[in-house]
Amino acid sequence: MSVIQVHDKQFEPYISAATLQQRIQELAAQLNNDLKGEKPLFIAILNGSFMFAADVFKYLTIDAEISFIKLASYKGMKSTGNVVQAIGLDEDLYGRTVVILEDIVDTGKTLSQFLPQLEHQQPKKLMVAALLTKPEAMVHPIKIDYLGFSVPNKFLLGYGLDYDGLGRNLPEIYKLVEGEK
Ligand code: 5GP
Repeated sequence: MSVIQVHDKQFEPYISAATLQQRIQELAAQLNNDLKGEKPLFIAILNGSFMFAADVFKYLTIDAEISFIKLASYKGMKSTGNVVQAIGLDEDLYGRTVVILEDIVDTGKTLSQFLPQLEHQQPKKLMVAALLTKPEAMVHPIKIDYLGFSVPNKFLLGYGLDYDGLGRNLPEIYKLVEGEK
């Protein structure tokens, strides 16, 4: 792995594909153990989580369902700022064990708006599995039940995460080279 250029920026290797796979297998083992017999519903938030979701799901040995959603942000009627709306969520969550699959929890804003909407449907359990989080950037504290890695407050790329549309296909994670903005 070496420094790569994407659009106008340089990125250096940060988490190898092997390290990602190993950690994801560990998370899946915990999920297999914790959620045995619960028939959980996994909700993967597109676009960024598609690789993480696919890999977690491959390593599950329990009965489980998965649904892929997109979150659209729109201006609410009140002065509460943007509101997120889930597109593609058809399942009834009442009484279900639900695990959100998210690529990265950064400020926590997205999930702080989305999770209460899901709570409305009265799931039995509502949990979050995130591949990455940036504790220094967290403004809206989110409880992450299954976490891959805590990372510094730097812009990351690869393994589903993009920079202006590119880089999602990389099997490893890269970090913006210091000094670049
Ligand atoms: P939050 O609402 O927690 O601030 O933002 C979460 C979303 O911001 C993530 O799902 C992801 O799409 C995007 N994001 C946050 N940090 C990064 C990063 O370092 N790289 C990329 N490509 N996206 C990020």
